[in-house]
Amino acid sequence: MVQEYKRTLVLGGRTSARKMRGLWVLLALFVAVFGKETFEGHQVLRITALNEAQLDLLKELHDKEQLGLDFWMEPSDVSLPIDVRVPFHSLQDIRAFLMYHEIYYDIMIQDLQDVLDEEQREMLRAKSLQSRSTDDFNYASYHTLNEINSFIDQLVQENPGFVSKIVIGQSYEGRPLNILKFSTGANRPGLWIDTGIHSREWVTQASGIWFSKKIVTDYGRDAELTDILNKYDIFLEIVTNPDGFQFTHTSNRMWRKTRKPNPGSSCVGVDPNRNWDAGFGGPGASSTPCSETYRGPRAHSEPEVKAIVDFVKSHGNIKAFVSIHSYSQMLLYPYGYTKTPCKDQAELHELARKAITELSSLYNTQYRYGSIITTIYQASGGTVDWTYDQGIKYSYTFELRDTGRYGFVLPANQIIPTAQETWLALMTIMKHAKNNPY
Ligand SMILES: [Zn+2]
Repeated sequence: MVQEYKRTLVLGGRTSARKMRGLWVLLALFVAVFGKETFEGHQVLRITALNEAQLDLLKELHDKEQLGLDFWMEPSDVSLPIDVRVPFHSLQDIRAFLMYHEIYYDIMIQDLQDVLDEEQREMLRAKSLQSRSTDDFNYASYHTLNEINSFIDQLVQENPGFVSKIVIGQSYEGRPLNILKFSTGANRPGLWIDTGIHSREWVTQASGIWFSKKIVTDYGRDAELTDILNKYDIFLEIVTNPDGFQFTHTSNRMWRKTRKPNPGSSCVGVDPNRNWDAGFGGPGASSTPCSETYRGPRAHSEPEVKAIVDFVKSHGNIKAFVSIHSYSQMLLYPYGYTKTPCKDQAELHELARKAITELSSLYNTQYRYGSIITTIYQASGGTVDWTYDQGIKYSYTFELRDTGRYGFVLPANQIIPTAQETWLALMTIMKHAKNNPY
């Protein structure tokens, strides 16, 4: 029995693979016409590879498109867990496969749809509390793109001469790419923060909203932030991938990539964190449009990425660049595309240590830190490798909460604590940038 599973799974059959692909296309069409994709019966498993052989087997699973697996944490190293969403139709096969190879796993999420239903109920409860100012905005809830855009406009309106909105471009589907600029004087160097470049990482956009309110609240009250803002502008892009974000609300909560179609493929979108001109096309990104880490046809092919590239280049004086993801609780610096340490490795490492020490002082949340390639895995075409190579020394990536209990579907009651603790780390980085001009 198990033998049979193994054979079907590993060897596959051409016809059945083709049939399955056909089914997937039909399913995608159904969803496009009738609404939201459901994740009923989908489980998220945490798999532990005990040795390189098991790791290789799991990497092979990765390429079996017909299984419809969605890796939340990619197989990379025996020391790191592998989290994977398994659709209901593949559960039996995967369980048999893991048992046959004696690979250990835990069920992280029993039924993903249950967690999503609770997330929706919570959003509906929050909706009844309409906010008339950013003071009574519900920071402890997830919000739609429209709600976030209204919040941004409100914040600008309430803080004339301090907060402004800049549209740095348009997404593939024509949505404005809005950034908030916090500025108290002309011709200042800039500090950049972005959230939500991967659209399903909802706690990041929600934290971005909280950061923006924190900045206007603390300016003039908190001595350190006031000092930073008297010398630097802060730029904050909350919804860095608006097409993807909209899609997570309307059609598929698990969407990560952009929404640009790929010619010759039925799969949509590019991984905007593999699309930058830094080791582009190297290992740690996929050349297959259906992959979640598809790098795109060429560097900066995605308008959402190109807009930031153009902004950074035309600004010319960005001193720190922080790109925020979730999940796994890590603070990372370049490089991801090469093992060669970056020339500021010692300083970036020490600053990361200080930042996560501050972060954990609040709720004792534990972070790992180091360069991308040594701490998670090789990834080419990543954001902060590009910004670092542009001369922005303080280039960092965060992976916010949690370490996998909920993964991308972190309950809304963790938004504020996540944002609060992350802010302490951001302040540490910004302060350091201010005190160490270059
Ligand atoms: Zn991400």
